[in-house]
Amino acid sequence: MDRIGVTELGYIGLDVGDLGAWRALASDILGMEFVEDAVGARLRMDYWHQRIVLHQGAADDLRYAGFRVSGPETFWGMQRQLKELGVKFEVASPAETEARHVLEFLKLEDPTGLPVEIFHGPQVDYHAPFRPGRGMHGKFRVGAQGLGHMIIGEKGIAASERFYREALGMRGSVDARFELGGQSIAPMFLHCNERQHTIAFGIPGSSKRLQHFMVEVDTLNDVGQAYELARERKAPILMDLGCHQNDQMVSFYMQTPSGFFCEYGWGGRPSLAQSEYNVRGDVWGHNIVDPSLLG
Ligand code: FE
Repeated sequence: MDRIGVTELGYIGLDVGDLGAWRALASDILGMEFVEDAVGARLRMDYWHQRIVLHQGAADDLRYAGFRVSGPETFWGMQRQLKELGVKFEVASPAETEARHVLEFLKLEDPTGLPVEIFHGPQVDYHAPFRPGRGMHGKFRVGAQGLGHMIIGEKGIAASERFYREALGMRGSVDARFELGGQSIAPMFLHCNERQHTIAFGIPGSSKRLQHFMVEVDTLNDVGQAYELARERKAPILMDLGCHQNDQMVSFYMQTPSGFFCEYGWGGRPSLAQSEYNVRGDVWGHNIVDPSLLG
């Protein structure tokens, strides 16, 4: 049987303590649409009902990650695949699918205990066009590439690699080897569509499940605009503008009110058909502005 693979990171849920501060970041700087709702708020980036769900809560971390499959057939196939691999899962109840605004989803956990949801059929609100929280020059680059990427914690690279590669059908490899704080690291970058990586792990230094998430815009002017707004509002900037070697994203990093970081970028290149690695991390820039933010 051919392996069934997820097709995108469709949505994430975050526990956030300070909803007001999140509104200021997500809406006024990033340009997302902020909609208050029963759990806290939902952030929109396109026609989808929700891309990032903010749950009012003290944990200030990633609460769950939703990976998409194409439809009912792959949803059933995914269940067979998980059973064959001995990966435990539950099928979400109708009340749970209603709360997530998807047709169906599976509930499982990655090797660190992160709740992973495999869904199909997101609610798409063509009747409610996306209204950016600030003037935007262009759009968020979502579509078939999903909402962006995230760097997550792991307990042993091999276990996480096995889960995301075999159970979720993602592809990719270690694509950088370098020294970080006197330590040799070889992070694993995995993709499931044209986006160069959808998840990565093996980067030490974060006690949270989520080290950062990245969203991408389709014009450099929106990165410049966010950068200016962040400086004007004295939002904590971790890393200055720069360009990564692996995805060649031109981006900068802000600290979110929850402590983990948000990368805001433009110009990422597609995932490669053949593996390669680099030893510097960046083509240029991405200098640390405020090392104290790393804790
Ligand atoms: Fe990133």
